Amino acid sequence: MKNISTIILLFVLLSVDKTVRAQEPITKDTIEGKNIEMLFPGGKTKALIISMDDGRDADRRLVELLNKYGINGTFHLNSGKLGTKDYLKKEEIKTLYKNHEVSVHSANHPPLSKLSAKEIRDEILLDRKELERLTGKIINGMAYPFGNYNDTVVAIAKECGITYARTVEDAYNFSIPTNFLLWTPTIHQFGKAYFIPNDSLNNQKELAIFYKTINQFLAADTLALLDVWGHSWENDGEGNRWNEMEKFCKLVAHNPAIFYSTQIDLVNYINAYKTLQYSINKRIITNNSSMDIFIKRGHKSFTIKAGETIRFTE
Ligand SMILES: [Zn+2]
Repeated sequence: MKNISTIILLFVLLSVDKTVRAQEPITKDTIEGKNIEMLFPGGKTKALIISMDDGRDADRRLVELLNKYGINGTFHLNSGKLGTKDYLKKEEIKTLYKNHEVSVHSANHPPLSKLSAKEIRDEILLDRKELERLTGKIINGMAYPFGNYNDTVVAIAKECGITYARTVEDAYNFSIPTNFLLWTPTIHQFGKAYFIPNDSLNNQKELAIFYKTINQFLAADTLALLDVWGHSWENDGEGNRWNEMEKFCKLVAHNPAIFYSTQIDLVNYINAYKTLQYSINKRIITNNSSMDIFIKRGHKSFTIKAGETIRFTE
């Protein structure tokens, strides 16, 4: 009897396994035909995001540096702190960040996971509302203050219309994060150099890791995203950090392989890529979005213009 039960159980398990396998092919990546990969806007294989928090007055110097090297930054601001000591003034936000993204960092920079649901919502929505008033733009990006979040914070951010939220958890890789509301950057500015005060050995070691990461990004031969996060005000600390920041900008600037992106532009682009529709043999691809999408098919690059359909004969 026991043997019969075992055989029946085994039969059931095998049947379940077969059912699961039968469903697998119904995904974009496993449909028959040539492999399709996303390229960044302009058909580029690399993208760079500079993601800086807090909106303190050192942002003026950082923005000037980024403008000098043609790099677009993303700046996460606490609107409740603007106009107070060491912070930017509200009147300068629109002009200063003209070529950059302004994004939510909560109104007053509390650790959000310690607040009630209503308080979390107020911190996010008040910041969104005020930053939208100051810039005249839709603001729907975010960085968690102190990198602090929990499931409730993430759920409320989503409810408040936030499309991505950056953490402070360095991934040390060039992959596109799978969950945009738990966005992991590549690396903190200068790695963990200066984390221990007056420790020049640690600084040297961490700076070496930082530049090694940047050079690996520049040398990468597959799709690569470099997302460097930090704070402009950190550059005012010990060492020659403003010089390091300029050295970094020089290293990554004016590179034809790089798409210099704000974070929201990249997120919107990837979301548009995800809406592409394919025929079963992948020879017909329709782009119903309002953005031109760049793909690699086999070894060739193609553009699928906004609202258009592309047809391949083989
Ligand atoms: Zn912060």
